[in-house]
Amino acid sequence: MSFFKTVVGGALGFMVGGPLGAAGGAVLANSFGGDNYKYNINCPHCHKSLGVNEYGNYNCSHCGGNFDFSTDGVIKNNNFNVICPYCNGNVLIDSTGVWNCCHCKNSFEYGEDNSIRKYDEEENTYIFIIFAAYAKFCKINGPIKNNHIEVISDIINNYYGFDEENRKKAIECFRKGRDSDKTFEDYCVKLNNSCDDNLEDDRNLKNGFLDCLYNIATSVGKVTYQDEKMLNYAAGVLKIEPYIINSIKADYMDNTLDKYYEILGCKKGDDLPTIKSKYRKLVGECHPDKISNKDLPDYLVEYSTQRFREVQEAYEKIRVTLGA
Ligand SMILES: [Zn+2]
Ligand SMILES: [Zn+2]
Repeated sequence: MSFFKTVVGGALGFMVGGPLGAAGGAVLANSFGGDNYKYNINCPHCHKSLGVNEYGNYNCSHCGGNFDFSTDGVIKNNNFNVICPYCNGNVLIDSTGVWNCCHCKNSFEYGEDNSIRKYDEEENTYIFIIFAAYAKFCKINGPIKNNHIEVISDIINNYYGFDEENRKKAIECFRKGRDSDKTFEDYCVKLNNSCDDNLEDDRNLKNGFLDCLYNIATSVGKVTYQDEKMLNYAAGVLKIEPYIINSIKADYMDNTLDKYYEILGCKKGDDLPTIKSKYRKLVGECHPDKISNKDLPDYLVEYSTQRFREVQEAYEKIRVTLGA
């Protein structure tokens, strides 16, 4: 072999690649800090550019955010890097819901409010969600009263007709829900998420739930503004059909409404101007300003004051019902 041929062969190898050429090229590129990565991608969190050589799971060298660079070239944003409440290990999840820890295998729940809770199987049963919601509903206007306990017992025994075991469970769930850090609204949302509207049983469960809420609200004193607000909230979140809401309302609320019409000397179906004119006339007769300078006996003043309050309340309730 001539000297000439040796030199040419070596030079060719360096220029066109092959083992020697590739290694030399890589060393050269590295020493200049050049871009020798196979893929140039942008971090889905901070959008800075990153070089990687293969598909896989990465932590961004700029922001630390975790992402998957998958075989189809899609960069998937693993949104949440959370701490397992059992083993304190880091777990990567990409949505809210129930997850199993990749280290200790225990289940935990990642909530909409970024909370991480140990997953309690019982807390995800219908009986718990429903009775926890009832407990929260009973607390809307203050502490739970004996009347509440009576109506809840009635619901357990007569509405659901539970056997002894479920009766105990329902009471336990009621207590646990009463003391939980969740709200009535939380339980309504959870109930709705747990139900499948395509299933008749689930729809019935939700309708029955609203029915019982009305039962509670109307059994313990007057239905307050807060009660009404929460009843409407529940009906909305649970997507209960308007005709069902109306029929439940008719069952529980109409008696009191009849009474209000009676107080004003009106009947159902009267229009608002008619009702308003009767209301004005009655208020004119028993308004405290008119009574006070007539030198009437105390019992008549008291009667008028009470009548005045009644008339006002009746008109308010009917006005709200008519949506005015
Ligand atoms: Zn980043
Ligand atoms: Zn764990």
